[in-house]
Amino acid sequence: MFLSSRIKNTNLSLTLKMNERAQDLHDSGVHVYNLTSGQLPFKPIPELNAKIISQVNFLKSFQYSPPSGFPELKEKVLKYMESSRGINLPREKFDCIVSNGAKHSIYNALGAMVDPGDEVVIVAPYWISYPEMIKFWGGVPIVVTTKSYNAFVPDIDELRKVLTSRTKMLILNSPNNPSGVNYSEHWMDEFANLMQEFPDTLILSDEIYYDLFYYDPKPTYYYQNRIELLDRTLIVDGISKTQMGPGLRLGYCVGPKKIIDAMTLIQSQTTSGPSSLIQRALIELDWSKNVEFLTPIKTYLRRNADALREAFKNEGLDNCWYQTTGAFYFMVDFSITPCFSLYKKDDNDQKDYSIQICDDLLKDECVAIIPGSDFGLKNSARISLTLEKEPFEAAMEKLTHFLSKEK
Ligand code: PLP
Repeated sequence: MFLSSRIKNTNLSLTLKMNERAQDLHDSGVHVYNLTSGQLPFKPIPELNAKIISQVNFLKSFQYSPPSGFPELKEKVLKYMESSRGINLPREKFDCIVSNGAKHSIYNALGAMVDPGDEVVIVAPYWISYPEMIKFWGGVPIVVTTKSYNAFVPDIDELRKVLTSRTKMLILNSPNNPSGVNYSEHWMDEFANLMQEFPDTLILSDEIYYDLFYYDPKPTYYYQNRIELLDRTLIVDGISKTQMGPGLRLGYCVGPKKIIDAMTLIQSQTTSGPSSLIQRALIELDWSKNVEFLTPIKTYLRRNADALREAFKNEGLDNCWYQTTGAFYFMVDFSITPCFSLYKKDDNDQKDYSIQICDDLLKDECVAIIPGSDFGLKNSARISLTLEKEPFEAAMEKLTHFLSKEK
């Protein structure tokens, strides 16, 4: 049997392999500190359960929705985007599509915009699925790599260097997975200036972690001070991260009508709209209560971020630490930690030891984290801040002990 070339060019995520290894160790009776998770250990706001249960009583909840979602939900999303981001989205120009997760919206957006050979700029470390989805549609991912000493914020001049007339789209993700930082307002203003130089490039702003900032100020975006850029912006968000519903599979995208129509065409001929039951429950739900619901969750994340900082400080690893502000991750740069001397052969050694280091960490300290190779960054790994405080503190002690070992 011959598989398509598309599939042969698609990489399997190391996250799954790492999870498998951690699970095997756990099954053999060893206590594993699993810091690989991409989801929070909380259920949605109880009102959502109640709305789902009440909507179960209606036939409509079990029938197809329109391909881009129920109009009432789309209007609710547009209003939410306007109030949360402080923007105006005139309905004659802008529209919304509701998909089976934000990932699905991004996939549709790439399908609507990218022809084979078109370039799409992404920032490394990046969310694992961007390059794979770009390649799926025949596009070419162009990667701009960031540095740990800049807290993984992309350099505007580095972005300028890769933008050309072939750049169809640029994907921005703030708050960021896997770095856990929000780009500042000043950075966003500079980015807006940069994008004025490239009027034919579309910007996809992946804001799936928008509400999950645990230090002020809240995330801001380039289009808020430069509303004309909304004409070539797609904003993606959803309920997976900030409404604790990753398994409910619902995300959405807001943007220029013409692009949303094209995305709807793809969705209508492939998956159709997402679950009618969940859509109808979300129509009935009061979304404004989510801000209060998130308060203890943000405290939980802030406590873990503080515990991480303390552990790095106690081991004298201050220079390997940066302040995370949103989402629920931290990216550790092995290449600047003492333990790297146990791996790197000499100054010319450019090899990526991420997998080997993460394997050793799991073997020696029973701490599972995801190698940076998955995120397009050599000699690094992603730590998830989702574990409860005590086990998280214990894991940080083990991790920093491991990072401090020298030749
Ligand atoms: N974008 C980023 C940056 C993510 O981290 C994720 C999920 O991990 C997604 C999009 C996809 O979210 P969803 O579960 O809504 O498909």
